[in-house]
Amino acid sequence: IVRIEHLNKTFTDTPVLRDVNLDVWNGEIVVVLGPSGSGKSTMLRCINLLETPTAGHILIEDKEITGTKKTDVNMLRRDLGMVFQGFNLFPHMTALENVMVGQVKVLKKPKDEARAEAMKQLEAVGLADRADYKPPQLSGGQQQRVAIARAVAMHPKVILFDEPTSALDPELVRDVLNVMRDLALHSGMTMIVVTHEMGFARDVADRVVFMEGGVVVEQGLPEEVFDHPKTQRTKEFLGNIR
Ligand code: ATP
Ligand code: MG
Repeated sequence: IVRIEHLNKTFTDTPVLRDVNLDVWNGEIVVVLGPSGSGKSTMLRCINLLETPTAGHILIEDKEITGTKKTDVNMLRRDLGMVFQGFNLFPHMTALENVMVGQVKVLKKPKDEARAEAMKQLEAVGLADRADYKPPQLSGGQQQRVAIARAVAMHPKVILFDEPTSALDPELVRDVLNVMRDLALHSGMTMIVVTHEMGFARDVADRVVFMEGGVVVEQGLPEEVFDHPKTQRTKEFLGNIR
């Protein structure tokens, strides 16, 4: 559903992504690991055209989104949900309104339909009773769960997660990971998840991708990559994290 071919990204003179190739299948859960600065965020940002690739191609469902001026970024972002480290909710809107607004503005859904979908998704993340709270009245973990509900309510083809739990206090991480695990196992949604949560990667990923220095160093089933890493770099990285 997502195909990345020979993706390169250079900022001024610094290559950040170097010939990245990655295919993600429909319904697949791909977890991307790698040290800070390895280009994980830049790769996700290229997929939704927050960054323009320097070279290479990205296809979503066989449609090329790079290299042509035709790609309608708004159409593209309908197909791609994104959950960041910061929660990026509208602070003056309630949780319910935050989950409704994209459905109404972007998908042009009638308000009552959007409201019903928003309630359903808030229930799914365990926050039905917080629907009328505004972000400042919610914990970081609750805000992140609202952000996930908002992404899911748009029914995108793929959701991209960039370190969704790394800004959270440890006791809040579990709730968010549980929501993501539930989504991964029961929704059939395609997910690309950048995270340092090894337990999540091991339990939930269909495939683990290890990046370093802008290169995909190794990829495979979680048990292959974790228990039998093929490269010295992957071994060192996993050794340091455990
Ligand atoms: P982290 O785990 O810390 O989030 P990352 O793997 O997501 O790291 P990226 O954010 O993709 O890494 O950054 C990769 C490299 O690209 C870094 O060296 C960073 O300094 C550089 N970089 C990222 N964005 C820009 C930018 N807009 N301009 C210049 N350099 C950038
Ligand atoms: Mg990053």
